[in-house]
Amino acid sequence: MTDSRKLLYRSGVLAVLSGPSGVGKNTVLNRLLTQRTDLRYSISVTTRPPRRGEKDGQHYFFVDREKFRQLVDQGELLEWAEVYGHYYGTPRRFIEDCLSSGYSVVLDVDPQGAAQIRQKVPDGVFIFLMPPSWEALEQRIRSRGADSEETIVQRLTAAQKELAAVAEYDYVVLNDDLDRAVEDLSAIVSAETRRVTRTDYRRFLRERFNQNHYGEGTRP
Ligand code: ADP
Ligand code: 5GP
Repeated sequence: MTDSRKLLYRSGVLAVLSGPSGVGKNTVLNRLLTQRTDLRYSISVTTRPPRRGEKDGQHYFFVDREKFRQLVDQGELLEWAEVYGHYYGTPRRFIEDCLSSGYSVVLDVDPQGAAQIRQKVPDGVFIFLMPPSWEALEQRIRSRGADSEETIVQRLTAAQKELAAVAEYDYVVLNDDLDRAVEDLSAIVSAETRRVTRTDYRRFLRERFNQNHYGEGTRP
């Protein structure tokens, strides 16, 4: 027999996570992905050079500007934007494949990308990760030890504007304590997959209760 949960909670959600650089998006998502087997991470394409320790095909697909332009022209990207002087984009095919197989997908994109996805995927779930304070954000960007001083200043300056974008999101999660932030994010994904409109309750009623579309069932 088909697993009851798989039968009822058939559709995954497209969860979009944004937040200022250094708030902890990668850290929170890495932790979440080890906990949930129903969730996949969409790896973005970028023209930004890899940071120390970043691997092609794992953190990003690193490409040059020409290749990025090609992907845009071929309609391969669900959204794309210029962020801090580099191009970033979301491959469309991977997301379509995951959703059609019942997996949820999580993306880490900036507010420009999130706005484009909201236009194309209105039932996406938009989540903003909030730093506990300005001081904590600055300390986290610096402690990552991966960016030049110029890049750090550029990202902190952009953060002022990015924080105001929270108003465009459905949920806000505070990343003060890592475990709690992961727990909150996971709860949102769970709640969203249990929306009646996303479930396959008709098939569930038919298969488990021998009930037809009109609500008439035969009891055993
Ligand atoms: P982002 O992906 O948003 O740019 P990262 O995940 O790279 O941010 O995190 C930036 C830094 O902040 C990392 O050094 C990470 O270990 C640290 N960090 C993330 N979450 C927390 C937290 N809840 N408390 C303290 N430090 C954190
Ligand atoms: P970083 O260079 O720190 O990895 O990411 C910089 C910014 O680019 C972050 O705000 C991140 O959310 C955003 N970003 C990463 N991937 C994508 C993407 O595919 N599309 C868009 N629009 N933004 C992205």
